[in-house]
Amino acid sequence: MMPSRNQWLSNFSEWFHKVIFEIPIYDTRYPVKGTGIWMPYGFKIRREVLEIIREELIKTGHEEVLFPTLIPEYLLKKEGEHIRNFEGQVFWITYGGTTPLDVRLALRPTSETSIYPMFQLWIKGYSDLPVKIFQIVNVFRYETKATKPMIRVREITTFKEAHTAHATKKEAENQVREGVEIYSRIFEKLGIPFVVSIRPRWDKFPGAEYSVAFDTIMPDGKVLQIGTVHFLGQGFARAFDIKYMNAEGNYEYVWQTCYGISERVIAALLAIHGDDHGLVLPSIVAPIQVVVIPIVYKGREEDIIKVCKEVREALYDEGLRVIIDENREETPGSKYFKWELRGVPIRVEIGPRDLERNTVVLVRRDTLEKITIERKYIVEEVKKLLRTIDSNLRERGKSWLFEHIFRESEIEKAKDTLNSKGGIVEIPWCGKDSCGQEIETKMDGRILGVPYNMEEKPISSCVNCKVAAVNWVRVAKSY
Ligand code: ZN
Repeated sequence: MMPSRNQWLSNFSEWFHKVIFEIPIYDTRYPVKGTGIWMPYGFKIRREVLEIIREELIKTGHEEVLFPTLIPEYLLKKEGEHIRNFEGQVFWITYGGTTPLDVRLALRPTSETSIYPMFQLWIKGYSDLPVKIFQIVNVFRYETKATKPMIRVREITTFKEAHTAHATKKEAENQVREGVEIYSRIFEKLGIPFVVSIRPRWDKFPGAEYSVAFDTIMPDGKVLQIGTVHFLGQGFARAFDIKYMNAEGNYEYVWQTCYGISERVIAALLAIHGDDHGLVLPSIVAPIQVVVIPIVYKGREEDIIKVCKEVREALYDEGLRVIIDENREETPGSKYFKWELRGVPIRVEIGPRDLERNTVVLVRRDTLEKITIERKYIVEEVKKLLRTIDSNLRERGKSWLFEHIFRESEIEKAKDTLNSKGGIVEIPWCGKDSCGQEIETKMDGRILGVPYNMEEKPISSCVNCKVAAVNWVRVAKSY
């Protein structure tokens, strides 16, 4: 019998708060609005996720750095469009002790304006390019909308931002493609389903020429942006005077890109795979991959514990993250409940009957299915089952996403679909900004953008203005 997803589906917000509070993953009771504490189990999940992100970036030639948190006002204001958009969200430090500061210092809302003055010093000649760096830091944004743990916060605790500089436009555009590929691999590993869209001009990153964004669909049907890749062109290079000397001895501005992922990825990971029993974690990020539970009976306690320890040892030696829950004060039933809530992929149960038969029972968290196997095959069977669970979660996530992408060619129908089914509605669009903004108002939704890398064009006319459509465009309700 498959675990139900009724509560998860019907009241996702309550499910999410309950799960992260009870395990606990993240505590929101700290007395500064929009901040929270990563609790040990949550911190471990976060660390595994960051490992995957780091691995993919380092593999593709990015180097990790660490910049200061504070940005002087004159740097933050150098690129006009950038500051106009971030101005309302910046936290300022205005005092040092009791002395007013001559120059106000911003807590970074993002780091372009702290990193690029240094690019200006580092980049001299062609041989200094490309530069490909990243950092994983906290950033601060004064959110005025209602805050939500990990999803809308004032201190984003986990912001991975990559910044690159290149000699030519072509190289920078290739870098955008590489950024999209890197993120696709990261989400694929985490089993998070996604669509990639080119954000409309009015919703691009401030200072960028265009932005490509990753969105996923949460259990409540709303869309969550989980990653962005920006083509910056030469705008920041001009503002920060970042030039290199080319082969002919002339100075040229560099071409730049940047791309970011935040702890929203972790929120999506916890949300997408869950069910009414709690979290369901892919083994790749599960802090505990296997929990061994002795089913003790009087007179057989020592034998059962001994076998449990052997099983734990065998799995541990294979590099698996495995524990025994030996607590004798707690019933097996309450242990099942506890480890199911925490999303441990496999539970191993060993009782007196298993001793006689040289078997163990494996229970997979994603389906709660029980499988009895011969004990001597424990390592192979557990490894195989972890792979099966991961691929099942990935496939289930993809089905969830595709079942929630709809196509409509009339605006009223599109609006009805969005209101009744949630998810993403794709509609034919003429491509004009003014028309797109009218669509957002009429549908009470947000235009996510035009599908990235989609060859297919609509044959019908724009849902709003009825002129020939040039693209499909995605509309959703978003976080
Ligand atoms: Zn139109």
